[in-house]
Amino acid sequence: MLSFHQARQQILDAVQPLALEKVPLLDAAGRAVAEDVMASQSLPAFDNSAMDGYAVRAVDCQVGSVLPVKGYLPAGGSPVTVAPGSAVKIMTGAPLPAGADAIVPFEETEEQPEQIRLLGTVKSGDHIRWKGEDIRPGDRVIAAGTVLRPAEISLLASFSMSTVRVRRRVRVAILSTGDELQEIDELRFEGSVVNSNSWALAAAVREIGGVPLMLGIARDNLESLREKLIDGLQADVLITSAGVSAGDRDLVREVLDELGVVQQFWKINIKPGKPTAFGMKETVPVFSLPGNPVSTMITFEEFVRPALLKMMGHRVVLKPLFKAKLQEPVKKRAGRLQLMRVAVELNSAGELLVASPGDQNTGILRTMIYATGIALLEAERDFYAAGEQVDVHLLGAATALGY
Ligand code: AMP
Ligand code: MG
Repeated sequence: MLSFHQARQQILDAVQPLALEKVPLLDAAGRAVAEDVMASQSLPAFDNSAMDGYAVRAVDCQVGSVLPVKGYLPAGGSPVTVAPGSAVKIMTGAPLPAGADAIVPFEETEEQPEQIRLLGTVKSGDHIRWKGEDIRPGDRVIAAGTVLRPAEISLLASFSMSTVRVRRRVRVAILSTGDELQEIDELRFEGSVVNSNSWALAAAVREIGGVPLMLGIARDNLESLREKLIDGLQADVLITSAGVSAGDRDLVREVLDELGVVQQFWKINIKPGKPTAFGMKETVPVFSLPGNPVSTMITFEEFVRPALLKMMGHRVVLKPLFKAKLQEPVKKRAGRLQLMRVAVELNSAGELLVASPGDQNTGILRTMIYATGIALLEAERDFYAAGEQVDVHLLGAATALGY
């Protein structure tokens, strides 16, 4: 059986980035830029003052020097000249006057009518932001695949880029399967289970900027599955949940095969999530996830999410793993990697601590709600002592740590 890492690698090798599209600057926020961004101009674009104060020539300045103030230059004002032996009042961001080579902040002067007296020493270059000291034309300032945060958006705006090239948002068809399922707004029948997986998956797709397409429920028969799966294969990605175990009504893989989906693997040596299957229909990846809501969400997190991020052109598709200290001993069966739901905390020393928030059974949704991370417990181990370090990644964003 494939290991956790082998399965994820196979998936990442199989999926390819989607086409480029050009979007307005703000619509690119939170998405990955598709191409390297090279600086088209200098930042700052011109030499300018870093302080409110006086533009001077450093040679004219000693402690106690008195300079007449000849002129005033606000930010956005047109350049002026500082004559030898004088000063020009200047505001932050205003272009450095010709002749000037230093700015003296207000606080370092005694302001008198029409003149200033210098309280300290002045060096050439003081409080000047030089053209290009931040960024020079031609610098590679943002690498392809970088997620555009406010800082990157700021930079692109400085370059007057009103549009940005990103990868298309991935369109993900989501299909739940099972005779027992009903939609949230349908009348319940004896033994029915509300379809929650479609909603969980749609939320997870949307969280990373994808577009979920809800296909509803397919029943556990060939006709119903065929009809829905044919639809689903029109999307960029198809995700199904349930119907992939070894039960006699687990027909999802059979129908996918009939529709030309080439199965890459079935079953991963993990818990939960073992019956996960993955295939490709030409460029469309097809994920068949197990039906237990906890298994569905965890397998999405570990296998589908990185694939969708790669398709949307992200350079970093895996969450960083942190070392965290187990707060209690953990017993497990040797032979399978366990994806343990954990509550992650920081202690006062700044160390990450993890503990199971309760029952790890896949039927237990409550622990998924309390979990803020997933700990990876190695396949070969059958026991971890309290205080041992384990690899953990967070679920969701920074809110997982309580802020
Ligand atoms: P299966 O993989 O078909 O054996 O389903 C495993 C378990 O997950 C069963 O208890 C199902 O009722 C449950 N289940 C399957 N699909 C969903 C769904 N869409 N929403 C909620 N529970 C589900
Ligand atoms: Mg079923």
